[in-house]
Parts: sequence; C-alpha cells; structure tokens
Amino acid sequence: MAPVSAGAPRGTRVGGAVLALLACISLVSGCSRVVSGTPTAEGGPAADDVAGLPVNDGPTGPRAGVADADLAVEGTDRGEIDGLARNAVSDVQDYWKAEFPDAFDGKEFDPVGKFVSYDSTALGGALCGQQTRGLSNAFYCGEEDLVAWDRADLLPRLSNSFGPIAVVTVLAHEMGHAVQQRAGTVGEQDSTLVSEQQADCFTGSFFRHVAEGGAQHFQVSTGDGLNQVMAVLSYIRDTPGESDFTGADAHGSAFDRVTAFQYGFSDGPKRCAEMDAEDVKQRTTQFRFWKQAQETDLPVDEKNLAAVQESLRLVFKDTGALPPHLVTEPLACAGVRSTSPVAYCPGTNTVSLSLDDLQRIATPPAQDDANSGYGDFAAYAQVASRYALSVQEAAGLPLTGQNAGLRTACMVGAWSGLLVEDPIGRRNPVGELRMAPGDIDEGVAALLGDDSLIAADVDGRQVPAGFARVEAFRLGFQDGFSPCSTQYSAGPA
Ligand SMILES: [Zn+2]
Repeated sequence: MAPVSAGAPRGTRVGGAVLALLACISLVSGCSRVVSGTPTAEGGPAADDVAGLPVNDGPTGPRAGVADADLAVEGTDRGEIDGLARNAVSDVQDYWKAEFPDAFDGKEFDPVGKFVSYDSTALGGALCGQQTRGLSNAFYCGEEDLVAWDRADLLPRLSNSFGPIAVVTVLAHEMGHAVQQRAGTVGEQDSTLVSEQQADCFTGSFFRHVAEGGAQHFQVSTGDGLNQVMAVLSYIRDTPGESDFTGADAHGSAFDRVTAFQYGFSDGPKRCAEMDAEDVKQRTTQFRFWKQAQETDLPVDEKNLAAVQESLRLVFKDTGALPPHLVTEPLACAGVRSTSPVAYCPGTNTVSLSLDDLQRIATPPAQDDANSGYGDFAAYAQVASRYALSVQEAAGLPLTGQNAGLRTACMVGAWSGLLVEDPIGRRNPVGELRMAPGDIDEGVAALLGDDSLIAADVDGRQVPAGFARVEAFRLGFQDGFSPCSTQYSAGPA
C-alpha cells in the first residue's frame, strides 16, 4: 500500500456513487430494497456453497485404479509426469468434445493436432520456432495446433509445490487457447489479456466438470481442491517468464485470473466467449491504472496503523457505527475466542493486535522461507476484517458463522475498492492511502491460504471454501459494501 503523495491524483468529486455505497449497512432491511439483481431468498444463499455445488474437502488429484489415457504424445519419456500430463489433456479434450457443440452453435471440436513433451534441461531442438532448451514452459502453439509441456522442470516443480492438480490446471489453460482458436472467440484486434482471461475462464468451466465428478482421470474437491487450483493461477501470474509466455505481462493480476476462472466455473463456456476487450476493460481498467503507480510497502508500525484506521473510519463513517478502539497488544475478551494476529472484542468495541505477528504477515513472500508472509496489504486487511466486525456489531448482525465471515470478506473488499484511483470516475478514493500494484494479489493469496482472518468470523473460523471467500471479497471490491449485508444475510451457519 502507499500513502498518497503530493503529486498523486486525488479524487475531487465526492461522488454520489460512493455515498450510496456507504449509506447502507446500519439499515440492513432497507438495503435489500436498494440492491437489484441479487437473489436473496429466505435466509440468503448458503454460505457453504460453491457456485451451486456443496463444499467438500474430499480427494483432489488423480483417480486411483483408472487406466491411463490412450493418447499419442510426441517426445515422451513415458515417465510419471508425462503420464499425468497425458491423462490431463485427454480429460480436458474429452470435456470439450462433449461441451463444445453446446457452447458454440453445434460446431464439433476438432482434436488438438499434436501433444508434445520435451525436456528443457536437455539439448533438444526447436518447437514451434522456439528452442526447447531452457524453456520452462507449457504452451499452445496455434500455427502448429500443438500443446507442449516441459516435463523436466516446470511440471514437476508445479506438482511438487501444489500437488498433481497443478499440472491439470496449467494444461487445461493451454487447452483453453486451443478452444478459443476453434471457437473463434478471440479476434486479431483482441489483446493478450483478453485471450488469457478467456483461457482461464475455460479452465474454470472444465474444473466444474471435474468437481461434478465427470472427469475420467481426475477429481477435485470444492474446498481445498479448488483452493489449490486457484493458487496455481495466482502463482503463475507471480512468475512472469516462467508460465505461458506469449506476453508475460499480459496475463492479468492474480485477482483477474481467479475472477475469470470463477466466471467459467459458475457460468460455463458461453460466459467465457463473452469476454472481449470491453468486458475485460470493465473489470481490469483500475488494475492497469495502479501499475503506473510505484510499488510501495507500508511497514507495519503505529503510525501506518493509524493511517489504516483512519481510512477505515472514513470508508465506514456513514454507517454511524462507532469506530472501535485500536490497541497494539493482544487483549483477552470475555466470551470470544482470541484470534491472532488481530482480534475484535464486541463487549469493549476494541480491535487488539500483535505488532510482531502482523509484521510477519506483512513480510513479502520469499521462496524457501516457510515463515514469510503475504505482504503489507494482507496484514492491513486482517485489521480491516476485525474493524468490519465492529461495523456489523453496530448494525446488530451476528458475528459468528459463515455468513459473518463472508460479510467480513465482502466489507474488506469494499474498503480495498475505495482505496483505488479510478481513472474513469466511477468512484472516488477515500482517505490518504492507496492500493499499490500487487496489493490485491496479496489479498487473494491470503484469502486462499488457511490462516487468514479476512473471511473469518469473530472466533477466527474461516469460511471453508476459498472460492466463496474470493467471491465475497470481489463483490465488495466491485460493488461497495451495501450488498455485503444482503447477499450474506442469513444468521449463523
Ligand atoms: Zn495462456
């Protein structure tokens, strides 16, 4: 995050949009009338729901006892990684053979011309005009209609870090490029970002099929399993030059990537086909804009905490909720499980925190350091989450249960969204803090982790499905906090 510097653009209008977003939370029943298009049946949607599928933490990865796919792979060493990759592209291709005609006006899906395995650590030759030596990559090459992967470095590394489902994720994305070539859903004039967003979206559609049990060789749970898959997408964005490489800067932020994946998972390939320059611009303009700013890390100290507290006070001031006290040492609280690194105590309306623990979370991620954190935004988002509970308490909303966790993530998203400069004037930033490039991705990484408070209730119980956590955060980020209380309106779940 960054403090607003003298030269930085400031919002000048106090827009009606911002005020409309701010006006609601203390009037929960009134708010439901304001929000349009949000289905809020009795009790609201189930919190433990992943786009209509039940949340489970069942097995994720290859199915045991299933015969390997019968699919030709050029250059294969017949090893374990190639076996995994072959089964993956086979399942993805089977899915598209079945799904493609429905999604694209009855057209048949032509099988991909060639699947190629290579070893980036060996001499090798050229593939689609690129030397394979040193090419730690997986890619689709349109000119030759082939999907290729590096079995020696990239795929084993991903599999070791995230589990075998990571290999399926990356190859489903590459197959997504083959799908868009066949469907003609990306035109000459479209940017790499459009093409990447669409491929991530197609990946989401395929993973819904896997989550529903329809894939022959793989399964994925809607809880932990999808968390891993979405973490892979975030990770690939984090290592430009090591992923799929047609334009390393244009894959979108982790937030963009996970969003596209979720659209495909929830709404299917037709939604992906709608992703054109305009659609992508609507969602990502602001992110591109931030990238013009300089990355700044705000160290976690008393001064910066005060600035964060002030931004929260401004974002939520029209709710009428009394701002909580902020105490920089852990405090006991009657009747509430203590949470770390930040806790909210409703009895005293106090947010208490451990500076040391918060500083650990603020440490940027480092390879080979299991103790490193997520970055400064992720740390401050924990503080924002406990602050959001104080606003809910003032509004008389329950502080325990999954809906409390999702409301919290949604409100943290709303706070984040109001710290963003918006070049097309849909909203004006609040206070003296701004999101820096990468902040939102830290938030997504923390949301997908298993130790964050951003989507946790007052007792620190996190909503089980990362999918639901990220959706709630995005709802607030995009639409402000008035939908937070209506979308997640059920009592303790
Ligand atoms: Zn791609």
